[in-house]
Order: sequence, then structure tokens, then C-alpha cells
Amino acid sequence: MAYSEERSLSINNLPSQVRETAMHSHDRTLRESEKRYHALVAAAAAIVWTTDSNGAIIEPQSSWERFTGQAWEQSRGWGWKEAIHPDDRERVKALWEKALSSRSMYRSAQRLWHAPSQSYRHVEVWAVCIPDSSGGIKQWVGICSDVTDLKRAEERLEAVLGSINDHLVCYDRQWRYIYVNDKAAEVLGRRKEDLIGRSIWEIFPDAVGNEYYRAVHEALAEQKIIRQEHYYPPFRAWFQNHIYPTPDGVTVFSADITRRKESEQRLRRSEARYRALLEASSQSIWTWNPETLEGDYEAVQRWWETLTGQSPFSQKDLGWLEVIHPEDRDRVSAAWTEAMTTANKLEVEYRIRTLAGEYRHLLSRVVPVREEGGAVREWVGMIIDMTEQRRQEAALKEADRRKDEFLAMLAHELRNPLAPIRNGLELIRLAGDDAATREQAQGMMERQVAQMVRLTDDLLDLARISQGRLELRKEQVEFASVVRSAVEATRPLIEANRHELHISLPPAPILLEGDLTRLAQVFSNLLNNSAKYTEPGGRIWLTVERQEAAVVATVRDTGIGIPGEMLSRIFEMFTQVDRSLEKARGGLGIGLTLVRQLVEMHGGRVEARSEGPDRGSLFIVHLPVITAAASPLHPTPSAEKKGFSPPGHRILVVEDHEDSAKIMEMMLKKMGHAPRIAYDGVEAIEAAEAFRPDVIFLDIGMPRLNGYDAARRIREQPWGKKILLVALTGWGQEADKCRSREAGFDFHLIKPVDPAVLNTLLAELGSAEGKPIDLP
Ligand code: ADP
Repeated sequence: MAYSEERSLSINNLPSQVRETAMHSHDRTLRESEKRYHALVAAAAAIVWTTDSNGAIIEPQSSWERFTGQAWEQSRGWGWKEAIHPDDRERVKALWEKALSSRSMYRSAQRLWHAPSQSYRHVEVWAVCIPDSSGGIKQWVGICSDVTDLKRAEERLEAVLGSINDHLVCYDRQWRYIYVNDKAAEVLGRRKEDLIGRSIWEIFPDAVGNEYYRAVHEALAEQKIIRQEHYYPPFRAWFQNHIYPTPDGVTVFSADITRRKESEQRLRRSEARYRALLEASSQSIWTWNPETLEGDYEAVQRWWETLTGQSPFSQKDLGWLEVIHPEDRDRVSAAWTEAMTTANKLEVEYRIRTLAGEYRHLLSRVVPVREEGGAVREWVGMIIDMTEQRRQEAALKEADRRKDEFLAMLAHELRNPLAPIRNGLELIRLAGDDAATREQAQGMMERQVAQMVRLTDDLLDLARISQGRLELRKEQVEFASVVRSAVEATRPLIEANRHELHISLPPAPILLEGDLTRLAQVFSNLLNNSAKYTEPGGRIWLTVERQEAAVVATVRDTGIGIPGEMLSRIFEMFTQVDRSLEKARGGLGIGLTLVRQLVEMHGGRVEARSEGPDRGSLFIVHLPVITAAASPLHPTPSAEKKGFSPPGHRILVVEDHEDSAKIMEMMLKKMGHAPRIAYDGVEAIEAAEAFRPDVIFLDIGMPRLNGYDAARRIREQPWGKKILLVALTGWGQEADKCRSREAGFDFHLIKPVDPAVLNTLLAELGSAEGKPIDLP
């Protein structure tokens, strides 16, 4: 082990005694000095020795001989060196020579052979030179003191301090590290050698002025022990410090308490969260200690009291069971008792009677909070009002049931027209030359097809409205044209039922800002219903009146009427008064829903009235009108276009469904055009190139190449730029139309296409080169 000479200096103050001894021996008589010297040597529990001015022993040294076992002969001259531990010998020799030449005080620490114990012992050596009267050196006097026990104790202390988990540092009064244990060096992230002797504030300048800084200064200034916890950001750590003032500075024990602090903080946060949770849902969370009967349950009691009218007093001792639905009471009581006796958590749903006399669905969850040993310390409970959820579940079930019913009815309604259409076809085949029968069959089939188209259109419209995707194409509309359109659409049914239709319109034109097609749809739906729900031969009135800023149109009939309780619900989706009865009349219960939605989209309202079954029905529609001076009426293009005679066109029909393609081809031929068929997209491009049609009707979903891609490729050709491209598809959503536009189509028609629409389209193509075409 290497020795620290500085440390040895502070161990005791023997050197001053030695110095004093030397001074006195110089001043007094030799004899007195000799006496004192021998007395001192005898008294000191140390080795006292003398050498000549060259460091050589020139006379016997009794205490040296006793300690080292060296005989006078062995120690004389520089022989004493042999008693020193071989590892320390050279160092001691060098130090001794240096002292001799500089005449300065000698000091060293070393191991010296100890004859009695036959081992080396640690000694500290001090020596001074005694001058003679002529200014030379008379002799050197030295002393060795055995510090082995002290040394061992220090080593033991060092081992203890080195192994403890706390950090220990000692500063002197200039804040220099004079001791740092292993743990402290590790935490400070420095080697001990780099710390010892340097000021803490120099090594950690960012700590100057912080809490720790203030505390150590205070401990030193006021000489008091300070205990402190502080956070040191650069280490991201919390320390608990015990700061002790010492005679030569300050000693600090520190423990890293970051983990403890973090868990305290987690605990505090979770506590705060729990409090906030309790506060946020204070009405329904509670805690209860069965031992002390204490807990946080006032809020829940108050909530319960407001809900049920039960005072906190009557809620006690299972008193709360009183307001539980009689059918649920025993079950809840049993579950509660079981939870309390088995200390298991409880989850139970029940109904309670409220102050207002209605029942609400509540869900109670109660969870035991256990001690470490497993015993239940308290219970935490929560009550959740499930009424709304249960109501919504019931509503969902009902909606689901209605949806199933609706689907069944839809299948029925779509299938219904198919039988007469099939029979009609058979009739036409059998009729031969009987033109009257054929015409009759054809009329009937047209009506059935119209009914199917109407159903699917209504469904699509409703889907669009409910997704907010139905857009009105508003323009200035004269109300008379709305009426005309609606009547035209319903006339076949009215005539088939031999109803008397009375229409009354004021002479002055009434102008609206609206979508003609959609407004006509409103009144054709109402007239259609009147025709459906009025026995044959009955009467129907459509009366239009102008009332200030509104037009009030009334559709009245002498039909089966509507029961009073149904009047408010009749506009709801899928609502029908009597399914069993209505089935025969056809319908899905969406016509009136559409009516109301469309009227409201036009800023109006609609109401239904009836004096009851068989007393007829009345539907009143209010719509805002344009009140400013009437501007000239733009006639609707569709009304104007009727009766065009089309010139012949070269038309390519692209359709993978063979029958549909053939029928279309036949129809177009009959209309005076020159059609040709292609059965998929690839064939379409080839045929178009060879045939150079004026118009292509292109299906979208097709094998090999779909309609969009086929259209794109045709548009890329020099000959394909001017062709009128018409998408003919079952997909009618806005997004589908958008894709058609992007692919280069001029029109997007939805199957089945009304032949009248085809006619108009083709007629316009011939008559209005380059102008946009308006379709009905
Ligand atoms: P649908 O007629 O397809 O069943 P609607 O939504 O048009 O559906 O009508 C909903 C229900 O309102 C009908 O099923 C019918 O019961 C009743 N209703 C509608 N219009 C009349 C009317 N003019 N006379 C009697 N009942 C009617």
C-alpha cells in the first residue's frame, strides 16, 4: 500500500514535541539535556533514534534494537535500512538523502520489521537536524511511532465506507474534496483522483447557488446538521442529504432516492387521478369500509336520493333494495350478500323505480380493495345508468326487425310485377294478330315496369338523402308545370282505378325556386298514394292556393283514411298503417318519407290529416314561393322536347348481357337507327374503329375491359373524340357519375332507361350539334 504523507501529518502532533525537544537540548546543558532525552525515550511508546550529520547511526539505539531486533552492529552506519520492508526501502533512502541535503524536516511512512511479533508494522517517522554552535549539523534526532492499529482501523473504515450504498464526501473549508467513497465517485461520474483536492463548485459549476449549495454553506456557517432532499437536474436524480459540519469542513452522506421519489410521485398522481375521477363521476362512485363503516358515499347517496326520493337514512341497511324493481330485488340482494361474504367482486344489473315513477336500468360494479395479506380493507363501487344504452339497444333491435321485415317486403314488391310481365309476354306471343290484346298486355307490362323502376328510384333517392348526397338542381319553376308533370306520371294508375281527379290551380302563375323533377316527385307520390288507398271509382282532389309567401297544395281523397295515432308517424321510414292490408297495394313505406325530405329540402313542410278509417286522407304541402316580380318563365326542356322525330344514327351497343343487348338493338332499329352490338370492352374498341358510330351505349361492368377503360381508349383515338359516349349502368351514385365523367363519357344513364329518354337524347343529337343536351 502506498502511503499518503499529508494524511500522516494530520494524525498527531508529535513533530512539534520533537522540535521542542531539539531546541531545548541545544540551549541547556548537555547533561540536563541528556537526562531529559533519556527520560523522554523511556517515556515515549516509540522508537527514538539519532544519527550523525550524514544519516549514519553512530551509537547504540536501545528502543530501535528492541523494536527491530537489530543488534548495534547490524544497525550502525546505514545498516538500519535493512529493518525496513524491502518494498519501501528505496523510497525511504531517497527521502532520507533529500532531507540530509536540504536539512529540512524528514517525514515518511513505511513498514518496519517488528521482532517481537516477527512481522512488519506500519510506522510513521519524523526527524529533525540539530545544529552545532558553528552553524553545521550536530546530529539528526528522529522518532518512529507505530501506527499499525490506526492504519488497520482506517482500512476497516475505508472498507466500510467504500461498501455502503450511500455516497459519502468530505470537503475542507475551501470546498475541496478530501474524501470520496466509491459510491460517491460512481454517482458523480468521476474518478476519485480527479475529485480529491478540487473544489466541488469548480467541478460542478451548475450546482452553485442551488439548494444543495445553500444547505452545505448553511451547515458550515451555522455549524449545524442539515437534512435535505433535493433534485439535481443534470443527473435527473433525487438525493437525500445529511450534511454534517466537521472541524475541518463538511461531511455529506447522500442517498439516491430517485426511485422512492418516483414511486411517491406515481402514488400521488394516482391518488390525484382517483380524486379527480371520484369528483368527475362523484354521483356514482363510492367507497365503503365495512369495519369502520366509513367511506366516500355521500355523493352517491345524494344522487340516489334525487333519482329515487329515498333519503340517505332510508337507504341504510339494505334500505336501498326497496326501490329496486320487485322482479330484480331478490337477485340483487342475493348477489350483494354473496359478494360481501365471499369478498368477490360483484356486477349486477337491475331496474330502480325513480321518483317520477318510471324504471331506469342501473349497473352496479363493486370491487374489494385488499390489504397485502388479502383481507378486504374497503369496497369501491360504481353505478352506471344503462337506461339510454338499453333503450338504444331496444331501438336497434326494433330497427333490425323492421329492416328484416322491409327486406322481405322489398323482395315481395319486386317479385310482384314480375308475374304480370311474364304473363304479358306469353299473352303477346299467343295474341298473334290480335292487336288489341297485344296493346293491352303491353300497357299492363309498361305499368309494372314503371312500378319497379319507381321502387328502385325511391330506394336510391332515400339512400342519397340519408347520406346527404342528394343535390337539388334548382331553377325557377312554375308550379303549374310541377302539377302537370306529377299528374302525367300518375295518370295511368288513376285511370286504371277509374278515379275522378279534380285539379284546381289559381290563374296567376306561381313561381318557385326548386327542382322541377323532385317537386313533381313529391306530388306524384301523394297522388299515387291517393290512387292506391282509394277504392276504385273514388275521388281525388289536387288543390293549389297561393297564400302570401307560400303555395299551399292539398291532395285529398275519399280513400281508406289514416287512423289518428298513425298521423304523426306516417312520414317515418318503412312506416305503413296496416301491412297485411297494404301488401296488396304495393309499397315499401318510403314514399312519404321521401315526400317530407324533399319538401323540407325546398324549405317547406308537409302534414297529414284524416278523420279516421274510411274518411279519406288529406296531405297539405307548404312551399315558399318567389315573391319578387315574376320573371319570364323558362319552359322546362323536357316538356318542350316531346314529339321530336329522330333522324337515324349509327349506334354501337356494348353490353355483355346478350338479351339486353339484343332488345336494345331491336328497339333502336325500330326507332330508325343503325345499331350494332359488341359484347365486351375490347370488342367495343374494335367495332367502334371499324363501324365509326355516332353514339356508343357502353355498359360499365364487363369482362376483359370495363366500360371506363374502354371509354378512355376510345377517347384517345382520333376518330373517338366526337363520338357521343353514353354510360349505361346499374350504378347511379354520384361517385359513379363522377368516374364516368373522368373516363370521358358525355352521359351517365341508369338502367332500365326510359325509351323516351333514349329518344330525346338521340333526337337532340341530330338537331343540336355541339349544344349541351338536356335530358328529362
Ligand atoms: P307505401 O305507400 O309505399 O306503403 P308511403 O310512405 O307512401 O309508403 O306511405 C306510408 C303509409 O301511409 C302507407 O303504407 C299507408 O298506410 C299510409 N298512407 C299514405 N297515403 C295514404 C292515403 N292517401 N290514404 C291512406 N293511407 C295512406
